[in-house]
Amino acid sequence: MTFDDRVALVTGAGSGIGRAMAVAFAKAGARVVACDIDAGTAGDVAREIGDSAVAATADIGDASSVEALVETAISTYGRIDVLCNNAGIMDTMALPADIPLDQWERVLRVNLTGTFLVTHAVLPHMLGQGGGAIVNTASEAGIRGGAAGAAYTASKHGVVGLTKSVAWAYAKDGIRCNAILPGPTMTNIATGASFDPVGAARLGPVLALGERLAQPEQMADAALYLASDAASFINGAIVPVDGGWSAA
Ligand code: NAD
Repeated sequence: MTFDDRVALVTGAGSGIGRAMAVAFAKAGARVVACDIDAGTAGDVAREIGDSAVAATADIGDASSVEALVETAISTYGRIDVLCNNAGIMDTMALPADIPLDQWERVLRVNLTGTFLVTHAVLPHMLGQGGGAIVNTASEAGIRGGAAGAAYTASKHGVVGLTKSVAWAYAKDGIRCNAILPGPTMTNIATGASFDPVGAARLGPVLALGERLAQPEQMADAALYLASDAASFINGAIVPVDGGWSAA
């Protein structure tokens, strides 16, 4: 899987799964636009990658910020071949009766509207180039209800729906769109300050492969494959990357 002469835009690249994706695409030959709302971590990742990366600070939930992001990518590298819509927040695992409207709206704005806004801004460039590959980071919560809470679960179901919508609409234009569904993965979402231990307890000890968390690099490997020519006939696929968790 080689990405020589290709440009990959990764959102949420400052940490966790997005950081692993940015590094993996660069190792595979791509030039990388490392986007994060956190300028410091985006810069750290771009510096770690070196000459073949540029950092871009953007809030994917804000339309004008996303426009500036895509302008940065195009003015720097001239094209976008791969889009990894990966940035996301959990913030709350509150159940439907308990979640305040502002928390609901915040999670939906970043996870679902943000994925839409970046896709919406990148698609004209992919259409102009004659193709591209989009990989959305959804979640097991994108196909099942339960432990992750009302807003996160609804937002990730929305990402799955958007993935299928884009896959259907642009297959004829050489644009593929797939989603990965990470199981619990060792990142800030799963271990950091915003981690909700009460909500997490509902997940239970159900990790099929040795009851352990996945590593971010294992998610990046799946995204690399789906974005690559090796997956040229895979479009609209919703791919669990969870060690068999969802099969248990
Ligand atoms: P993380 O917190 O380590 O990384 C998320 C990154 O997104 C952070 O760098 C953060 O600054 C950035 N971000 C947040 N809001 C943003 C915004 N509005 N604009 C731009 N960047 C923003 O967490 P992670 O686990 O690496 O999460 C990556 C994706 O994986 C998310 O979509 C998450 O929902 C999904 N996911 C994670 C797990 C898990 O167990 N870690 C499981 C399923 C799905």
